[in-house]
Amino acid sequence: MLCRISVGHYSNPDCEAARMTRIHGVEYVAARCCGATFSLPRYSSINFSAREYWTDGWREESLYPNDEGLRRCDCGNYLLIDDLVRIVENSGTAAQPSVVPDNELMACLSSGVSETVEVAARLTLWRFLNHPYRERYRQHRFDEDALRQKESKRVTATPQKWHLGKWLHKTSEGDRPEGAVRTIPVFDCSEAQRSNMRRLCELLEQNSSLLDAGRALLLAELHREQGNFEQTLTLLDAPSYRNDEHSILIKTLAKMQVDAPVRFLSRS
Ligand SMILES: [Zn+2]
Repeated sequence: MLCRISVGHYSNPDCEAARMTRIHGVEYVAARCCGATFSLPRYSSINFSAREYWTDGWREESLYPNDEGLRRCDCGNYLLIDDLVRIVENSGTAAQPSVVPDNELMACLSSGVSETVEVAARLTLWRFLNHPYRERYRQHRFDEDALRQKESKRVTATPQKWHLGKWLHKTSEGDRPEGAVRTIPVFDCSEAQRSNMRRLCELLEQNSSLLDAGRALLLAELHREQGNFEQTLTLLDAPSYRNDEHSILIKTLAKMQVDAPVRFLSRS
């Protein structure tokens, strides 16, 4: 079976066809907890394009599943897709394991899950709790761009808004008129967000098996969003870090002492 899925919304059909993530059949897996069987899509090609990329790892309108692989088994246990055991094919019509909805994350965390599952749940919760800020950010960017178009003159940052300078507008969000600057709203971090980020840092720093290359960068970002800019910069000075756009942006924002999640690429 060959089918195409497109999670994103793109107005150009030719562009969309070129950007497909393709699924070729399924594989059958079983949960270790109770033996329940599930099917998982088998990807023949994966496209990581999205409409927006954010420094906390969120991808808006992603062409590829945008989660940490956290699932709920039929028996009620929380597990990760990576922990499912592959079984022989042609095992019937097993459904995919249930995605854990955002409003169930706290119940998941209080159910005594392993540290591996806890990290996946807390990374999901981190991005979920950042979503309201993303909305304010988009609206602010939209309003500021509209104002710029209307007045065609430089926008001055207020004391309540960070001045991100030319760097962001030139490298992150498209062309801007010479001399233009961008501002972003203040990131008012709640105690729920802070305690979740603190616990994530604790887990990732105390158990190196939980820390792959992608999560190592997220650890630097977690420190930045808590205002621990020196720790972010120290982490990003390690030779193991790639010098890609994501890493460079987090480092630049830490140097500017900006603690907000930032959208760093947008096709709109
Ligand atoms: Zn189970």
